Amino acid sequence: MSRHKLVKALDLDEELDDFDGGIKPDYDDEVSAEDKEQLRLGTIKVRDILGEDAGMTDKKIEDSLWHYYYDIDKTVNYLLSQKTNSQPKKSKKKKAGDGEAKATGPSPDDIVIKAQNTKGPTPKAAKQPTPPAKSNKSVNGVIQGVSEVNIEDTKIRGKNLDVLAEFERSKPKNAANFVVIGHVDAGKSTLMGRLLYDLKVVDQRTLDKYRKESERLGKGSFALAWVLDQGTEERNRGVTIDIAMNKFETENTSFTILDAPGHRDFIPNMIAGASQADFAVLVIDASTGNFESGLKGQTKEHALLVRSMGVQRIVIAINKLDTVQWSQDRFNEISQQVSAFLTSAGFLSRNLAFVPCAGLTGDNIVRKADDPKASWYPGPPLVSLLESSKPVTRALEKPLRLTIDDIFRGGIQNSLSVSGRLDSGNVQIGDTVLVMPAKEAGAIKGLEVDSEPAEWAVAGQNVILHLTEIDTKYLKSGDVICPPSAPIQCVTSFTIKVLAFEHVTLMHCEVHKGTLHAPGRVTQLIAQLDKASGAAVKGKPRLIKPGSVARVVVEVDDPVPLEPGGRVILRAGGETVGAGLVE
Ligand code: GDP
Repeated sequence: MSRHKLVKALDLDEELDDFDGGIKPDYDDEVSAEDKEQLRLGTIKVRDILGEDAGMTDKKIEDSLWHYYYDIDKTVNYLLSQKTNSQPKKSKKKKAGDGEAKATGPSPDDIVIKAQNTKGPTPKAAKQPTPPAKSNKSVNGVIQGVSEVNIEDTKIRGKNLDVLAEFERSKPKNAANFVVIGHVDAGKSTLMGRLLYDLKVVDQRTLDKYRKESERLGKGSFALAWVLDQGTEERNRGVTIDIAMNKFETENTSFTILDAPGHRDFIPNMIAGASQADFAVLVIDASTGNFESGLKGQTKEHALLVRSMGVQRIVIAINKLDTVQWSQDRFNEISQQVSAFLTSAGFLSRNLAFVPCAGLTGDNIVRKADDPKASWYPGPPLVSLLESSKPVTRALEKPLRLTIDDIFRGGIQNSLSVSGRLDSGNVQIGDTVLVMPAKEAGAIKGLEVDSEPAEWAVAGQNVILHLTEIDTKYLKSGDVICPPSAPIQCVTSFTIKVLAFEHVTLMHCEVHKGTLHAPGRVTQLIAQLDKASGAAVKGKPRLIKPGSVARVVVEVDDPVPLEPGGRVILRAGGETVGAGLVE
């Protein structure tokens, strides 16, 4: 008998409960040694997550594992839902009534204690004091989070695909996200608009429409830039405020442009963009005087920021060369200065590529420059340099991590959807997921990859997940979606290796990670480190000078989802004071 038929015969949803120690299932003779081993290992894992006193027999766990093809998350979710159904239902309304100050629900510690004290049906436990940290607390906390889910919400039947095999079979194109950085007015939006237009992503009619509109507002030259800056606020102000996203494909690669704003106030948005970027395009205004003021302005800060966010490769577009008659000397002078600065900021020279161009006229963007004065440049246009970025290494095998960019309250079909990029792992329809730090669990009803409906998604892809009803008030940008069996840890205190941009001392600051912004403080300066080796050179410094590297402790008011290797930016008083790597 096939496993499916057997499961059907058992009618699992209704009968598993009655199965406890009762009738012996009749598949014993049919399970292979391999299946038995899977059942044994699966039971250990499930028990690990559920805890010993979850009141589940081995038999019940094995039956669920069998039904769900050894999928641990689904098994745990099913068993918990069974348990929840036999307990008095928690009302979400009550939880909301807990008050504004507790938007993220009870603390992990409260939950651990509650879970540990829970034996059988219990009324809501009173708030408990916070115990010292234990390594398994987040796991227990998560279980409690999952058990609060209404089973009806999570009963989404997926196809149980082997997503990694599907991904291999789909012969994916190389996919790359890049962020566009540079001083305000360097021509970033114009250049990207030109790229999209010349690659025929935007048609002439749309561009004509933009041109008319921009002329009406007396900003004729902005038409190309509007291809990217689609919000009216941006159009009227002439700066790109939020991260507009645009996609285009070349023969080998499918690109997503994360257009970064050039305005000084909008650096937090740029951080969000850079945290998802595989490489950066730095646009430099070559016109007389403007390169110099740009270098003093945001060019350096942006470059340092993207480096701190893990970006290793930069394509440098020396733009507006039409304004200096395509002077080769000017190009060389700027390239040398920018190269010296970027290498001192930690970029390897082999990861830098320079191209002389003019976004407004399209010279050396998608096609080679027409202007005979530009004939001294033998190299490829910008688009070829973008293409030569190495294929992105995807963290496919790691647990799912998706940092929420945006939350949409949708229509009747999809009441709640979230967008973001899969940092690691994979998802498919039917998966149960956990949103941290709120510990809200839900199931994936549907998903979109690059705005197209899909059944699964893998690390590196930009997705929209349609979730079963989770109240939006528990979610915010910067939260992380993960599997219930491997939740991201949420911390209120963490150690980082920080590169100081400004003086860093014991101070209040804002912690930024992607779209997450949290008020916090630097509470300890542990040591100043050698920039090259990372070894401590001075213990307990009183002040970290700009340009120095140090190990410091940061505390935040509410738990934030952060793991070692994560990158954060510290800002204070509207300035970026440092960029750090979580240790
Ligand atoms: P952003 O702030 O970096 O996005 O800059 P924009 O794309 O909005 O461009 C700023 C100004 O520079 C606009 O008036 C553009 O028309 C102008 N501009 C952009 N690219 C070029 C170029 O290649 N040559 C010339 N001459 N002007 C340009």
